[in-house]
Amino acid sequence: MDIKALRNETPGVNEVIHFNNAGASLITQKTLDAQLGYLKEEALFGGYETAAKYEKRINAFYTEIAKLLNAEPEEIAYTESATVAWERAFFSIDFKPGDEIVCDHTSYASNYIAHLQAEQRYGTKTVVIPANHFGEVDVEALKTLISAKTKLISITHMPTNGGLVNPAEAIGRVANEHHILYLLDACQSAGQYPLDVRKIGCDFLSSTGRKYLRGPRGTGFLYASKKILKSITPINLDLHSAEWNSINSFKQLDNAKKFETWESNIAAKIGLITAVQQINEIGIDKICNRVTEVADYLRDELSKIKEITVQDIGRVKSGIVTFTSSKFTPLEMKKFFSENKINTVTPTLSGTRIDMEARKLDAVLRSSVHYYNTKEEIDTFASLIKQMHR
Ligand SMILES: *Cc1c(COP(=O)(O)O)cnc(C)c1O
Repeated sequence: MDIKALRNETPGVNEVIHFNNAGASLITQKTLDAQLGYLKEEALFGGYETAAKYEKRINAFYTEIAKLLNAEPEEIAYTESATVAWERAFFSIDFKPGDEIVCDHTSYASNYIAHLQAEQRYGTKTVVIPANHFGEVDVEALKTLISAKTKLISITHMPTNGGLVNPAEAIGRVANEHHILYLLDACQSAGQYPLDVRKIGCDFLSSTGRKYLRGPRGTGFLYASKKILKSITPINLDLHSAEWNSINSFKQLDNAKKFETWESNIAAKIGLITAVQQINEIGIDKICNRVTEVADYLRDELSKIKEITVQDIGRVKSGIVTFTSSKFTPLEMKKFFSENKINTVTPTLSGTRIDMEARKLDAVLRSSVHYYNTKEEIDTFASLIKQMHR
């Protein structure tokens, strides 16, 4: 990868050291221009008219995301966030009293709140799979938790609060063997890690545009397998996802667009297409290797500082690097980094409560790196941390 050239097309790298790619990545000039250009045409010629003119380009959304996931374009829906995608899938499942939802210990707050809401609304029960010795979802334990009551396996691929990668494919094999629905939150993995829905064997996969895919804010997508599309009716049907074909009837679409609604931010969609196209062009394997290399280097440099404890778990680690200090709180560190034009964030207990409580962590400092980050940036970061601990 020509990192220098890739940085040259990312204007933000001249302003900040951006270690908040798990929050929102810096977009490229091309992605910015694509959106601005589209917005300008909408303003000059009309929203519907511009959409008609760019119909082919807009449809590239489905082929590009499908390519990224080894899915088919008919299995992809555009949404405004990962949460919207995930909730549309989740709340479309016909939960019955007594059904069990089996989920991971690194569940994202929004997903777990939905699990709890399902308990209140449908009388379901939430079962948390314990972590194995490495901190990953324990697949052997999962096998013992499956019963006739298990309705859904709901898993976070990469948690928001640390370097862990959960074994999505091994979990998929268990789900498929027992014919249980499998919903995968790939919010942090899309764009930094290879995702093959055929190999994973999930029924649904949700993600956002702004994180490792380097798309604009306010974008996301849902993958729904052809198999599940036949048997599920979304909660969000409207005149786009269904046709009102007689006064007393409607017919829903048979593709994943039935999880969309009519109105959407098309300029943002155009931006996301541009971003995903670039990821597909570079190749996700190359990106994954580079992210791993940069993240490993960061973890190495951090572990040389005696006041710092790297808090990442799992055998396979992502570009999300988290740590704590024996001298400063994560918030104090974040403030100091920010004064020095380094972007980081501080995930807290309530974002991933099961895992944070188990590890007795209130908050961590999260420095999430992407392929366009450099060792020089990490050296600057590491010397700043040393300086503040001196
Ligand atoms: C960020 C995140 C989400 C939510 O994504 P939105 O686009 O903000 O809805 C869901 N799951 C995980 C693991 C995340 O990190």
